[in-house]
Amino acid sequence: MSEQFTFQAETQQLLDILIHSLYTEREIFLRELLSNASDALHRLQFEQLTNPNVLDPAAPLEVRIFIDKEARTLTIRDTGIGMTRDEIIANLGTIARSGAKQFMQAVRDKSGDQASAIIGQFGVGFYSAFMVADEVRVISRSYRPDAQAVQWRASGGTSYEIDSADKAERGTDVILHLKEDADEFLQPWKLHDIIRRHSDYVAFPIYVVSPKPEGQNDQSQVEERPANSQQAIWRRAPQEITEDDYKGFYRAFSMEFEPPLHHIHVRADVPLQYYALLYIPASNQPGMFSLRKQPGLKLYARKILIQEYNTDLLPDYLSFVQGVVDSEDLPLNVSRESIKADRGMVNLKNALTKRVLSDLRKLMDKERERYLPIYKQYARFLKQGLVMHPTERAELEQLLLFNSSRDDSPDSWVSLSEAVERMVSGQQELYYVVADDFASARRSPHLEAFRARGIEVLYFCDPVDAMLPMSLTEFRGYKLRAVDDANIDLKDVGQAPQQAEAEAIEDQALLDLVGRMKAVLGERVRGVRASRVLVGSAARLVSDDDSQRRHMFRINRLLDREVEWPVMTLEVNPRHPLLHNLSKLSADSPTFGLIVEQLYETALLQEGMHPDPSSMAERLTQLMQAASQA
Ligand code: ADP
Repeated sequence: MSEQFTFQAETQQLLDILIHSLYTEREIFLRELLSNASDALHRLQFEQLTNPNVLDPAAPLEVRIFIDKEARTLTIRDTGIGMTRDEIIANLGTIARSGAKQFMQAVRDKSGDQASAIIGQFGVGFYSAFMVADEVRVISRSYRPDAQAVQWRASGGTSYEIDSADKAERGTDVILHLKEDADEFLQPWKLHDIIRRHSDYVAFPIYVVSPKPEGQNDQSQVEERPANSQQAIWRRAPQEITEDDYKGFYRAFSMEFEPPLHHIHVRADVPLQYYALLYIPASNQPGMFSLRKQPGLKLYARKILIQEYNTDLLPDYLSFVQGVVDSEDLPLNVSRESIKADRGMVNLKNALTKRVLSDLRKLMDKERERYLPIYKQYARFLKQGLVMHPTERAELEQLLLFNSSRDDSPDSWVSLSEAVERMVSGQQELYYVVADDFASARRSPHLEAFRARGIEVLYFCDPVDAMLPMSLTEFRGYKLRAVDDANIDLKDVGQAPQQAEAEAIEDQALLDLVGRMKAVLGERVRGVRASRVLVGSAARLVSDDDSQRRHMFRINRLLDREVEWPVMTLEVNPRHPLLHNLSKLSADSPTFGLIVEQLYETALLQEGMHPDPSSMAERLTQLMQAASQA
């Protein structure tokens, strides 16, 4: 009894596009169907690890493609997991693939020609069969011993039919009745060619079963060697593999357009036997059409796919790494749940982590121009790792790069080691400024004294850098200190400042001024005092608190948490003309209060804190009015 079902609206649209446009790249239908067959075989294999009770337990795991020239059909038969009636309805009536959805989005406003040019880059899945077939039948029998065979049939309209079927063996037949213009796919050599180019790595043998030779009536058909090498790229010797092979595999694996920034191919024997092919993607955002939207490595144990996304093989700060791991040591009876606790996994994780970090280190030291794009994409992961995993600090701190006051350019980077190597005479500490961005870092009033003495200051100006001081307190025995630390003494460090010093306010007047300023600012500042280091700026906010936690307010703000600005000390420059003038203003002059307030808020602004803009605007207007009266 056949039963009719209507396709989901989205599926209808997809079919419509696939059927009515003439695609130059339509041969990819075979890649898609073989990929489904391969998935089904992998899933069966995985099931068999723990469940002996499957239909046809001894059937070879393989794919056969039968060509029938007279009937104009192509049958792709796998001995995989199969589908029950319910599964076939759930799987082949809707669009599961994100690739297919993205494809539709991309072609929605384009002509057929343009769609044709891009289809090869999408994983449109099963429905791509309709590019070459005017009718598709799927006959499937689930691995569950009690399940019945079922048939699914559609001609690309708005509906499909479900029927019972006769099929004794486990697995799935996809039978394509080819369109008039799709004769080429009845040629065995053509199929071989497509398989070699698109599906060579499929782990199961794919046989193309050629048509019976003319005039011969017996059932025996000519069977050739498998059309695919089945040699997983990661199991092959690296010296046999070209750069293009690596890129090609990555592309098929991830469907990312952008080539990866780096790949790591490991074939290890002792103490662990495993293969790994890892990639660092070009971007930390998966592409629109990416097949791999979840972090995690594809895990095989002795060629059997155990997990599509395994996140236990690398620490979270390396979760941007993509790829495949194939172990010879993991027990095969592992379930997806128990694998986490397995000792072999822990060892494998350590080995992989070490390898990725050492590759990054090598790039950092020897190929900086290749390391930089990686660092720019993934610095935040590494910094997070440094803060969250203090035990790995020694490795991770070597991978950091910063802009600094020395070149003062966003394109110029220095590592901590390099900063140590070029310390100036008398320098016993490394200095950094925490700021919201590059522009505020370089304009920070804290840098004046360091610039004047030729001392390099590292810019911690990526928003997450505010976390670094918590764990990065010293490097190679040198303390790291923030430049707004009130207790830094630069007296004998670097060269003596050149500039002739302007005259300072005389002691008594200064004492008086500082007192009056403190009276205006009250509890908002810990105190007001004269600065020994400011050169061009009138004031700055410094911290007497040496604890690295004082940068936490920036982190909290980053996390959108309510934060209170830590109470700091206002340092004023007793040589600055503004302060000279201020000291002469009488305390009851209304302008005095306004200027002190503005001086404080300007210092806050320079720290990246936004004081209340409306009250500031009002005050500035009053100040301009006062200034313009003169
Ligand atoms: P995807 O493979 O990305 O899920 P498809 O549209 O290609 O998307 O296939 C939809 C679903 O149909 C698959 O997820 C799978 O469950 C099922 N399926 C397709 N082909 C087969 C097959 N040969 N054997 C078993 N199940 C299959």
